[in-house]
Amino acid sequence: MIEVKGVSKSFGSNQVLKDISFDVKEGEVVVLVGPSGSGKSTLLRCINFLEEFQAGEILVDGAAVGYSGGTSGPSRRRQSEADVANLRTKAGMVFQNYNLFPHKTAIENVMMGPVLVNKDSKADARAHGLELLAKVGLKDRADHFPSQLSGGQQQRVAIARALAMRPKVMLFDEVTSALDPELVDEVLKTLRDLSNEGMTMIIVTHEMQFARDVADRLLFFYQGVIIEDGPPAEVFANPKTERFQTFVKRFQ
Ligand code: ADP
Ligand code: MG
Repeated sequence: MIEVKGVSKSFGSNQVLKDISFDVKEGEVVVLVGPSGSGKSTLLRCINFLEEFQAGEILVDGAAVGYSGGTSGPSRRRQSEADVANLRTKAGMVFQNYNLFPHKTAIENVMMGPVLVNKDSKADARAHGLELLAKVGLKDRADHFPSQLSGGQQQRVAIARALAMRPKVMLFDEVTSALDPELVDEVLKTLRDLSNEGMTMIIVTHEMQFARDVADRLLFFYQGVIIEDGPPAEVFANPKTERFQTFVKRFQ
């Protein structure tokens, strides 16, 4: 479902992703962990084509993200805006700060993409949006404004909003990091539910117990390189690197 092949990305002279390669199969949940600044967000942003990358190739559901004409060299071309917009709908992304539109209600936030981008009818978008709000446990909050919702509720609206575009994959970037501790579990439960329904996901998180429970595979990022890759039980039991051992100690 997602193929990342030899991706490198620099900001000026700072190489943030160094020849990264991995696949995510349909229905698989990959959890990405690593220290701050190791390139996790940049990688997710490249997959969703919010960032350009200098070398390599990313395919989502068989379609190349952002570039055509090979992984490097003179024939490499940026795709048209229309192609990019179409590809971007394949991946839904949710960020640390839910970024809901404050002057729109929960259901209006969820309906916006389908109505404006996909030209769905308002009636269809509302019906689907209400189903999604029910799925994230917010059926009775549809007409609330973001300011009337807790952080955890707002984050679940943001997840419903991403799902409204019927993405093939979901990308989550530290979606619980800005929440008060007592609100973390309700958001993690939503991610677990999605995983149980077979959604293909890449989740960046510092919630180690969640990673162990839910991930099919754990990737440990360090300075732009994947230095651990395997089922979480294996990586935690037999890490190949000291870096990972040092990193997880902080969460125990
Ligand atoms: P993580 O999500 O793992 O904390 P990031 O992907 O956000 O790491 O950042 C990786 C590196 O890229 C950091 O050194 C960061 O300063 C740098 N970086 C991220 N975004 C930008 C940007 N827009 N411009 C310049 N440098 C950036
Ligand atoms: Mg980040």
